[in-house]
Amino acid sequence: MISDNINAIKAELPDGVVLCAVSKYHPAEMISEAYDGGQRVFGESHVQELMKKYEVLPKDIEWHFIGHLQTNKVKYIAPFISLIHSVDTPKLLAEINRQGIKCARRIPCLLQLHVAMEETKFGFSVDELREYLQNGEWREMNGIDIQGIMCMASNTDDEERILSDFRTANEFSRYCAENFGNNFRIRSWGMSGDYLLAVREGSNLVRIGSKIFGERVY
Ligand SMILES: *Cc1c(COP(=O)(O)O)cnc(C)c1O
Repeated sequence: MISDNINAIKAELPDGVVLCAVSKYHPAEMISEAYDGGQRVFGESHVQELMKKYEVLPKDIEWHFIGHLQTNKVKYIAPFISLIHSVDTPKLLAEINRQGIKCARRIPCLLQLHVAMEETKFGFSVDELREYLQNGEWREMNGIDIQGIMCMASNTDDEERILSDFRTANEFSRYCAENFGNNFRIRSWGMSGDYLLAVREGSNLVRIGSKIFGERVY
């Protein structure tokens, strides 16, 4: 059943769009089921939960971290994480860099852009991120590899607002590729409720949870 959900979503995604199956709050058994159907990319948003699953599940899973990450927890995931989507401050990026150097790896990262109307969501504003990238200190960091932009749209039924949030991210992502290099190639936006809008506005990495695994129990 889980694999049927994954296949149905994949059939709707344009070529070149990667599906990250968001497995937070769901047990390892459900991840195994998706894995047996061929899914390899999974997203988690809590370090402790991710560590438990990492221990028991196959080592060729590509784990993505998608939630708000506290600096004091970076060290636990640094050795194995495939992509951190949710880098929301220069301080966090500096810590990921420090831990990446310790592990002798460049940790793939996305910078989280705040485009939604809710104040509560995390991320850099467009102006903050432009300034941060222009200042250029990230270029000297050998423990990170910045590969693109992540965002979450406003939590609303208004499709025009959602599309406009994604458009803001898409335009900023293009600006980054033009000004800071082709390494800015990942555009992580779109969740269960809005992934079809997201791919219309340039997403090439969607993060889908409830539409695959069902509602989460908190
Ligand atoms: C939980 C979560 C998702 C998946 O949400 P669904 O609506 O269940 O698809 C995607 N991105 C982030 C950052 C999340 O925290």
